Amino acid sequence: MSFRGLISQLTLEEKASLCSGLNFWQTKPVERLGIPSLRLTDGPHGVRLQRPGGSFTDSEPATCFPTAATLASSWDPALVERVGQALGDECRALGVHVLLGPGANIKRSPLCGRNFEYFSEDPLLSGSMAAAHIRGVQSRGVGTSLKHFAANNQEYRRMTTSAEVDERALREIYLASFEGAVKGGRPWTVMCAYNRLNGTYCSENPWLLTQVLRDDWGFDGVVVSDWGAVNDRVQGLAAGLDLEMPGGLYAQDGEIVKAVREGRLSESVLDAAVERLLTLVDRAYREEAGPPVDWDAHHRLARQVAAESMVLLKNDGDILPIAHGQRMAVIGAFAVSPRYQGGGSSHVNPARLDEPLAELRHTFGADAVVYAPGYALDDDAPRPELIEEAVNVARQADIAVIFAGLPESWESEGYDRAHMRMPDAHVALIEAVASVQPHTVVVLSNGAPVEMPWIHRVPAVIEAYLAGQAFGGAIADILSGAVNPSGKLSETFPVRLEHNPSHPFFPGEGDRVEYREGIFVGYRYYDTKDLDVLFPFGHGLSYTTFAYEAIRISKTSVRDDEPLTVEIDIRNTGAREGKEVVQLYVEPETPGVIRPVRELRAFAKVELRPGEMKTVTLTLDKRAFAHFDVRDGEFRVQTGTYRLRAGASSRDLRLEAEVRVESTAPPRPVEVHANATLGDLLADPVTGPVLRELLQEKLAGSPLGSEVEGNPTLEAFLRFTAIGRVPTLFGVPRDEIGRILEMLREAQNRSGSGAGDNR
Ligand code: BGC
Repeated sequence: MSFRGLISQLTLEEKASLCSGLNFWQTKPVERLGIPSLRLTDGPHGVRLQRPGGSFTDSEPATCFPTAATLASSWDPALVERVGQALGDECRALGVHVLLGPGANIKRSPLCGRNFEYFSEDPLLSGSMAAAHIRGVQSRGVGTSLKHFAANNQEYRRMTTSAEVDERALREIYLASFEGAVKGGRPWTVMCAYNRLNGTYCSENPWLLTQVLRDDWGFDGVVVSDWGAVNDRVQGLAAGLDLEMPGGLYAQDGEIVKAVREGRLSESVLDAAVERLLTLVDRAYREEAGPPVDWDAHHRLARQVAAESMVLLKNDGDILPIAHGQRMAVIGAFAVSPRYQGGGSSHVNPARLDEPLAELRHTFGADAVVYAPGYALDDDAPRPELIEEAVNVARQADIAVIFAGLPESWESEGYDRAHMRMPDAHVALIEAVASVQPHTVVVLSNGAPVEMPWIHRVPAVIEAYLAGQAFGGAIADILSGAVNPSGKLSETFPVRLEHNPSHPFFPGEGDRVEYREGIFVGYRYYDTKDLDVLFPFGHGLSYTTFAYEAIRISKTSVRDDEPLTVEIDIRNTGAREGKEVVQLYVEPETPGVIRPVRELRAFAKVELRPGEMKTVTLTLDKRAFAHFDVRDGEFRVQTGTYRLRAGASSRDLRLEAEVRVESTAPPRPVEVHANATLGDLLADPVTGPVLRELLQEKLAGSPLGSEVEGNPTLEAFLRFTAIGRVPTLFGVPRDEIGRILEMLREAQNRSGSGAGDNR
């Protein structure tokens, strides 16, 4: 039976009651008609089902998978989809109907407190990962809530600040990530953000919640507020916000009823929201409760995903993997109390927790491993006695592995980091150990980039991010070589925070944060400026090597409505099986509009045995070449040549091909008015020939006419001369120019190309 069909039987009060929660985590039932309540819960990388009556941190045990920052480094949507399936299974077993995630906000600044919950600085990668997460969870009959829509790129003043973002940056970067997730994942719900966007709260922004989300992208689900994000309930409903969360005593259903009664809100708006809410109930109750969870299998999956996502940043002299039989000094309190998830609403009570030290002893033999804590968990200042102990242990070993990174309290929902440094205690420890042990490996646990002033003092670094409950087992797999690293950075590590393009404007003034860097986010900025970075976007090493052997394109010239197929031959040239992420970037040769030097437009992860060659096939469509044209309000391609560059990071491009792309959009006619330049009027296919003839006629015999002919300097000068200035500059009677403009407009009208705005 369909709950949606019951809408006509609901009273006004019952309809309004469905638009807010019953309590913190459930929607309201309508018992009279048998409409059940839905349970929503966090998310995104584990199920945080709070125990009844329990505190915020008191939740049912569930598998803590790696957080989004880690998952994204796998560059493997199929793997992320499997995580989603496992999350969906746990939701069903625990009676959860909607999992609150994934988060698809772009990493604008490395300092955002929730970066660990987000995927990437690049919208294609972020949107693909979020879509995979959604598909996985929803394949189990459980909904997702794609969040936080939109431009919630910082925690600082998150409930009051207005993100001031130009439409091009929104469409190409910040919204594009959500667009990929909505179109590729079809989430049952979207969660609107706390902040305002260009002055209007996201929770009551009709442009965002209706025009873009539903009309442009075809979203057919429920929009739910972030917890406590509602400002004006009636305006919110009218803008497209269906469900206010949390609910309970202080929810604002009464406001809705009142507004309908007073004629301020059309009942049809409420009906549309209720219809969407009942459709959600239909979707959620299509399946019975799920089978019991196989916790062992989920732990194994968490371990596999963590290992596939870790990024080998540096491995000088191939000191990794570590051969059995070496004496190993394991240093750092994180080896015993691992850092594996972030703080806030996503904090999961792990079903199980690997201890890295125990896992390393298990893998390499208890006798081979000695341990020293090196720093205190609760103190960021160096402790000389702990460092000295660590140095002694390291000196006597063949290799030292230091577990370091960021303490949990430094990365959380609710506030941002103040700087990009690691604790002094960790930095001092690394420097001291590296000074006595040349074979020092640093394993980093952090949710976002850190500065590494010590980078040149150690031969090997693994960025493990926040790798979930199986971090311990996974790092043993990577260090021993049981798993060959294949993670790649989904964000740039700048040398210093000050190099980040948002830095001068982050986190804004008062309740206003202006995104003045526009579309130049992450590598789009660093690469265009050709700035040195610590590690580039897409970077990650392997224990084997890959050769990019050939690139082929299906056509050398395409129209923008035809797909282009790109084939890349890639070979494993080393001695170990491994995986490579093939990345394809597009560079416009003569952009014509302001654009980043290159943008990621396709990628694929491929597994290769030693010596094996495979052909990766990627498809590029119009969006791969387009920019958002704010005048037309749509994506447009500039006709011209585009370079396709394939490689292993945005700075390690190994193959290239060129394609000419022809725009199918009708050319935009020049606007004919006194302030139009001669150059623009002459370049236009309609006005150009007419003007050329008229000018020859009018200027014939005048000093100007004879001078322009064959004089490139004067021609170039005239290109930027407004036609209305010709009388004063060149002594042509003013009414002559008026007549010329008239004739140009007539020519446009005859051809049907008039620009409309003829001032
Ligand atoms: C967070 C959301 C979360 C919700 C419910 C909010 O504070 O921003 O991400 O899903 O709380 O816990």
